[in-house]
Amino acid sequence: MQDDRITKLGAVPRRDGSGRALDWVEARRLLDGLPSGGLNIAYEAVYRHVARGDGHRCALRFIDKRGRRSDLSYEALAGEVSRFANVLARLGVQPGDRVFGLAGRVPSLYVAALGTLAHRAVFCPLFSAFGPDPIAVRLKTGRGRVLVTSSKLYTKKVAAIRDRLPELEHVLVVDAGLAPEGTLSLAQLMQEAPEAYEIGPTDPEDPALLHFTSGTTGTPKGALHVHEAVVAHHVTGRDALDLRPGDVFWCTADPGWVTGTSYGIVAPLTCGVTMIVDEGEFDARRWYGCIASEHVAVWYTSPTAARMLMKAGAELAREYDLSSLRFIASVGEPLNPEVVRWSVDAFGMPIHDNWWQTETGGIMIANTIERDVKPGSMGRPLPGVEAAIVEREPDGRVRVVEEPGVEGELALRRGWPSMFRAYVDQPERYAKCFAGDWYLTGDLARVDEDGYFWFVGRTDDVIKSAGHLIGPFEVESALMEHPVVAEAAVIGKPDPVAGDIIKAFVTLRPGTEVSPELERDLMAFARKRLGPAVAPRQIDFATELPKTRSGKIMRRLLRARELGLPEGDTSTLETFT
Ligand code: AMP
Repeated sequence: MQDDRITKLGAVPRRDGSGRALDWVEARRLLDGLPSGGLNIAYEAVYRHVARGDGHRCALRFIDKRGRRSDLSYEALAGEVSRFANVLARLGVQPGDRVFGLAGRVPSLYVAALGTLAHRAVFCPLFSAFGPDPIAVRLKTGRGRVLVTSSKLYTKKVAAIRDRLPELEHVLVVDAGLAPEGTLSLAQLMQEAPEAYEIGPTDPEDPALLHFTSGTTGTPKGALHVHEAVVAHHVTGRDALDLRPGDVFWCTADPGWVTGTSYGIVAPLTCGVTMIVDEGEFDARRWYGCIASEHVAVWYTSPTAARMLMKAGAELAREYDLSSLRFIASVGEPLNPEVVRWSVDAFGMPIHDNWWQTETGGIMIANTIERDVKPGSMGRPLPGVEAAIVEREPDGRVRVVEEPGVEGELALRRGWPSMFRAYVDQPERYAKCFAGDWYLTGDLARVDEDGYFWFVGRTDDVIKSAGHLIGPFEVESALMEHPVVAEAAVIGKPDPVAGDIIKAFVTLRPGTEVSPELERDLMAFARKRLGPAVAPRQIDFATELPKTRSGKIMRRLLRARELGLPEGDTSTLETFT
């Protein structure tokens, strides 16, 4: 196994003097809990700073698309969050009801997320790049009662699917102007709402967050998290991202992704940092400019973004004063070793890869500030996390692989606070994720003799494209809605920047001629329904798709053939031409 580690010069002492959390009980003591008992994410993130006399500190700094800044102190944020909680109360929203967010990085989205948690309703973020189909499926599966969105997104993506969503009672639009028909102006409701709100009794096991993720088959899965997750959010913010009170922190994750909540809202606020929220899209100059002008100390981003910056060149980075940076981390996809080495050249420090997923709710495996980095490795399990490589036995049990260097499935011993508690309405799918005490992640990995974990791949066919986890089934279903498509199969095709791009293979109904116009039409059709983040970037026409004898399309075989890789076991193959 390669070992070109990046050695940290001397141990970096923890400057907060708090020591490491040894277990979750100790981690829980780092939080305050509600004055009346219980544990509520919004309290730990916002109100407790005010109660401790730190309300004047800047909690959120918003930078809009045009570069204009606006700050919210913890105290001002508490006022806004309280107003939103009161808005929900007035609308008759009950604890446990689902409030969805579909918006870019605008202040109201952050206020809505925290206000929902304060009201003990469940917050569920959606990607604003989704098309109407993925939005409808998730709102329906999650039984969304309230949706917070913009007029533009509502008109473009939601208005036409509204009749499919009888349970969606209220749509609150965040813009200042006139609310479209069928929606309410959030600004107006907020104006009428009182600024004081007392959080009701919250059991740590009360549901708090719902994050949709994709599987290989069937509808997307709604992973449900509880208020106790905040224990993991907080301590991993501290230990994996090195967040300390007063730090300026920038998390570039899309607010629709689990990272956008766990580390784009909760962890940084519980740690008392100033969080930068930039509404703008990726642009190398804008990003470097943001780090320099905001004096960002800790920066959490994605491998796709890092690869795009690398493409723009280290010279560009050197044009900016990036000396405020103390720690850089990334998550969501494999981080190439050459990007880690490039980062040392460009920023004077490695990007620290870490690993987790929607179901784990928080970072589980990480390269931390104190330890050497082995480029290409995801790092080591955090304190309190027990990770292992396991093999599934035919009887359903798992065997822990003790020898280093052996590939197997990455498993985590259940019991960490941010572990998902259910897939909404799918208890069997949930149960299938566990074998005894082990949660099976669906990722393949290996561990080396120093305890560093290395990502190998997935055990299933889900695709990671520019950080989005995409279920092939959802894309195939949308393509098959097109009148000329008979069958569709979707794979991930390696791409130097996005990790993988979505490639579709389709067979056509008899009598349909293949043509460039048809290809363009299909692409546009998929884009309109699914949105640009999920739609295929390439479509190939086939006369037949490889299937097992039981009729399941063998995506793996299509991928192997596309990439010129060995085809593996094809004994169950039925036909292919
Ligand atoms: P999501 O639930 O959308 O956050 O996606 C989780 C999946 O992303 C994991 O199961 C992995 O397959 C992948 N992933 C997350 N972090 C990493 C990482 N550091 N290296 C490689 N793959 C990762």
